[in-house]
Amino acid sequence: MSLLTQEHELVRKTARDFAEKYVGPIARRMDRENYYPRDILRDAGKLGILTPTVPPEYGGGGGDLRSVVVILEELGRVSGGFSLLVEAYGVLFADALKNFGSAGQKEEVLPKVAAGEKIGAFALSEPCCGSDAAAIQTRAERRGGEWVINGAKMWITNGLYADYYLVAARTGPREARHKAITVFLLRRSSCVEASPIEVMGVRGTGTAELKFNDCSVGEDEIVGELNGGWRVLMHTLDVGRVAISGVALGIARGAFEEALAWARSRELFGKRLVEFQNAQFELAEMLASIETARALTYYAAYLYDVGSPEFLLMSHVAKLQAARLAVDVTRRAVQMEGGYGYSKESKAEMFYRDAKILEIGEGTNEVMKYVIYKLLEKSS
Ligand SMILES: Cc1cc2nc3c(=O)[nH]c(=O)nc-3n(C[C@H](O)[C@H](O)[C@H](O)COP(=O)(O)OP(=O)(O)OC[C@H]3O[C@@H](n4cnc5c(N)ncnc54)[C@H](O)[C@@H]3O)c2cc1C
Repeated sequence: MSLLTQEHELVRKTARDFAEKYVGPIARRMDRENYYPRDILRDAGKLGILTPTVPPEYGGGGGDLRSVVVILEELGRVSGGFSLLVEAYGVLFADALKNFGSAGQKEEVLPKVAAGEKIGAFALSEPCCGSDAAAIQTRAERRGGEWVINGAKMWITNGLYADYYLVAARTGPREARHKAITVFLLRRSSCVEASPIEVMGVRGTGTAELKFNDCSVGEDEIVGELNGGWRVLMHTLDVGRVAISGVALGIARGAFEEALAWARSRELFGKRLVEFQNAQFELAEMLASIETARALTYYAAYLYDVGSPEFLLMSHVAKLQAARLAVDVTRRAVQMEGGYGYSKESKAEMFYRDAKILEIGEGTNEVMKYVIYKLLEKSS
């Protein structure tokens, strides 16, 4: 049984055509110049690629989680950075607002974000805390009829250019941990200071440190419920884990395709590299890894789409494996290309650096294993 329908294949074609026509030409510029591809976001928006799960009435793609994976895989094959940018934009921000936002929030924000006119970012991690997200220190305090947010966020993708932020803030004592966290929809204004962070890979994604200085928001800017932010955050990261596995698939495929082409054209010792059995074995290992990650990722997405209780475990398994396999495949691709693979000319070099974030962002490998073991304990 195929987990993908004809509709998913049509989405794949649209995403692949877009990736080759619009993303391919700017992928190296994003990487080398840390260039944020503002200009092509509107083109992506017209095709529903930016916000794949947002309903069509708001201008989104109206798709399921498998559509998200299909899109991110095709974008990642050309640029890991662009794929991650869309993942954070379309899933961590837009899908979260679609799932938990009020009617008023959705009506105001989703059409602009889906069209690529306004940018959204998901701001959870802080200088103090990433894996231990329940310990965040950014605070929202009630003053009069408003909430006033103060604190700092770290590593926020799209954060440098965002017009809207989903901000996780503490609305009760620190000891209450996850029970005293609320998510707010914050419009950008002069109270937000955004500074760029130079990163190793997935460059051009507007990674930023944010400071909130007395940012006021109304009661109606709470997303979900007061002190109910943890549910919003965890659900969003559950979906994000599978989505980012789609980014991993794309990055691995992009590197594999380049290594294969290289092995077929490179001549040494009077033969083409691909004629050496070790090169064939390497390519076979890479393909086997990609297909393993693909099977896990699409299966996890399918489980979410059909509402299966197995989803939670499989989303962690897929993320752990897809991230590791992407790092392994890109490393092998660099090795296959020899000195060229180590040069800035090689796409494998870029993909190798891009892949590393997959073992860190949206839950590190260690956090994946921690949760997988917890779920094992619970079930036995
Ligand atoms: C390029 C980039 C983009 C990002 N985009 C976003 C974004 O858009 N929004 C957002 O909110 N965040 C974002 N992040 C943050 C990211 O999610 C965190 O970096 C990640 O969750 C890890 O948190 P940390 O960096 O604080 O590391 P820490 O949590 O300090 O982890 C340090 C080390 O400790 C290990 N560790 C943690 N817990 C355990 C444990 N229980 N047992 C054993 N070892 C453990 C970790 O695996 C890691 O190796 C981004 C990060 C980067 C680098």
